[in-house]
Amino acid sequence: MSLFEIIYAGSNAALGLAEQTVASAVAEKGKDHKVAFPGTAYSLPVIFAATGLKINTLGDLETALGVVKSLIVEEEDLGKALNAGLSTAVSAEIIESVKYALSDDPYADEPGIGFVPDPIIRSLGVPLVTGDIPGIAVILGECDSRDELAAIVKDYQSKGLLTFLIGKTVDQVMESDVKVGLEFRVIPIGYDVTAVIHVVSVAIRAALIFGALKPGDLPGLIQYTKERVPAFVNTFGALNEVVVSAGAGAIALGFPVIADIDVPEVPGALIAQKDRSLTVKTSLEARGIKIKVKELPIPVAFAAAFEGERIRKESVYAEFGSKRSKAWELVNMKSMDEVEDHKIEVIGPDIDSMDPPVYLPLAMIVDVAGKNMEADFEPVLERRIHYFVNYIEGVMHIGQRNIAWIRIGKDAFEKGFRLKHLGEVLYAMMHEDFGTVVDKVSVKIITDKAMVEELEQSLALPKYKARDERLAALTDETVDTFYSCKLCQSFAPSHVCVITPERLGLCGAVSWLDAKATKELNPVGACQPIAKEGVEDEEKGIWTEVNKAVDEASQGAVTRVSLYSILEDPMTSCGCFECICGIVPEANGVVVVNREFADVTPVGMTFGELASMTGGGVQTPGFMGHGRHFIGSKKFLKAEGGIARIVWMPKDLKDDVRIRLDAAAKELYDIDNFTDMICDETIATDVEEVINFLTEKNHPALDKDPIM
Ligand code: SF4
Ligand code: ZN
Repeated sequence: MSLFEIIYAGSNAALGLAEQTVASAVAEKGKDHKVAFPGTAYSLPVIFAATGLKINTLGDLETALGVVKSLIVEEEDLGKALNAGLSTAVSAEIIESVKYALSDDPYADEPGIGFVPDPIIRSLGVPLVTGDIPGIAVILGECDSRDELAAIVKDYQSKGLLTFLIGKTVDQVMESDVKVGLEFRVIPIGYDVTAVIHVVSVAIRAALIFGALKPGDLPGLIQYTKERVPAFVNTFGALNEVVVSAGAGAIALGFPVIADIDVPEVPGALIAQKDRSLTVKTSLEARGIKIKVKELPIPVAFAAAFEGERIRKESVYAEFGSKRSKAWELVNMKSMDEVEDHKIEVIGPDIDSMDPPVYLPLAMIVDVAGKNMEADFEPVLERRIHYFVNYIEGVMHIGQRNIAWIRIGKDAFEKGFRLKHLGEVLYAMMHEDFGTVVDKVSVKIITDKAMVEELEQSLALPKYKARDERLAALTDETVDTFYSCKLCQSFAPSHVCVITPERLGLCGAVSWLDAKATKELNPVGACQPIAKEGVEDEEKGIWTEVNKAVDEASQGAVTRVSLYSILEDPMTSCGCFECICGIVPEANGVVVVNREFADVTPVGMTFGELASMTGGGVQTPGFMGHGRHFIGSKKFLKAEGGIARIVWMPKDLKDDVRIRLDAAAKELYDIDNFTDMICDETIATDVEEVINFLTEKNHPALDKDPIM
């Protein structure tokens, strides 16, 4: 059979299976039975994106089968063959959706997670745009060498890629010593080949969420995934016609397929690589993914993929901080002649000087010096300590400043990890990430109890205090420069964040100080200064220069922004926002919902549904994505009356922002414990009941002018 014939045979086979699946589900449950994937605002995302159709019932799936048929036109033509590949994707989505229609959790009995909900995709936005996750590998089939497969997955992991497993490879990888889970960037999806659609669905929703693509714009969709989603497919073992046809679908979306058997090659798209020691290299080259490798002089691996690794109690070799001891960390700016580059000192007992479990106090002091270094950058560098330490395989870091908590696992100890290696990592990574501001770095790791305590009092605490005072004094009024950030433009082409001291980037990861440091690190990079000039309206936060900067950075897509308003020219959203704010007209205020909250809010929508109302760099009055920290700001919704408009938030979010929010409300309105006046899901989610609660609490929103 020719490649074309194989693809069409596969598409027809998938269609046949989809038809059967739908027919038997309809026979069992009736046409009106509900069909939905959990945790998405995009119905059946592939069908929705490709056609604009929202599928709600088994009956609707019959219409979707018509779409599949229309995509299969059996001619010896590459374009038609790729369309047939897409039809296989649609068939797979139909089949998988029926699984969810017939069972609440069809993946309960297998290690795969099946459908990937929207919030996970949103959380991947920032790591993907920063290149922290440089690519996405989709692994399919069954490899005849488990060890070689494991080596490939580990290699992707150490390079920071996100790997999805489908088919027998799920078990093969899970039986090996590869660490698996979202936190390790290795995600088992499912055993059936149709489960591959859950990965395709991730790529397609990225286009809808970040790219603001119009449903039904198939060419736009294909262009987006081709240009912006750095995915590729590795298949292992023999390929049946359905897999080949699904592979054609992947190729249609711009994802090259690398097989470990002989296949008729299509340059750049379908590639045979039988030498599995070259699979990774061939794949990365085919998709144009470049990796910065970091080799550190430590006995364990070091990669962003280990960030989420937890060391459980049974596996602890040594622990610092938490209940048993004190642990703190500090980046300390010094003059050039006070710092000896690469001096790493361990002062006090090392972890091999006593029997485990080792409990010691710890101080990590990173002294830095550099011509372009500023005291303002100290906290920016210091916050990275958390990541650098977490990236070490077998080491866990939680907290910051003097509430740090570090665990070193038994495995890491056995491989030879000692305290000086913490110093090596901090030394190398400070140079690596902050090379343009630090010229010299030295590290002190102190475990001597008296010294840890003495230096905390004399050095660390006064530093933290001075920084807090600086931050508190840092308001939008006290600076003459704001910053733009357009890092997310690789996914949301016209989105620009304007970052001010009181309004951080909506991802929560870029504060004004971060933006300032980023500018210093890379003068032509993603963050650029905006002179705070030409004030047009201080209440709404409108400056002529800000408008100009946004106009330019968005290539004319957005010409005016009100920094403090949700209704008039609000700031755009990319998609990776920590929280979404939406108006509840009945309660004369807004709800604020964090990404982690999965249930329905008083506006009748989940976070995901609310989030889908905005994004892709488009202004949507009434909806606004923002960072958590913005909630306690005096500039939050200032134009509409400020934080007094917040009427409902999930309980976890309330608890998280309470201290700052209460302080701001006290200052703005002389109200005590304002957070307690805000309703949450443990009190009510029905609008009427929410209003009753607000009335009972005498919530200030009720006395304000109508919000719309
Ligand atoms: Fe993206 Fe804005 Fe965060 Fe920059 S500040 S990374 S543009 S969300
Ligand atoms: Zn973003």
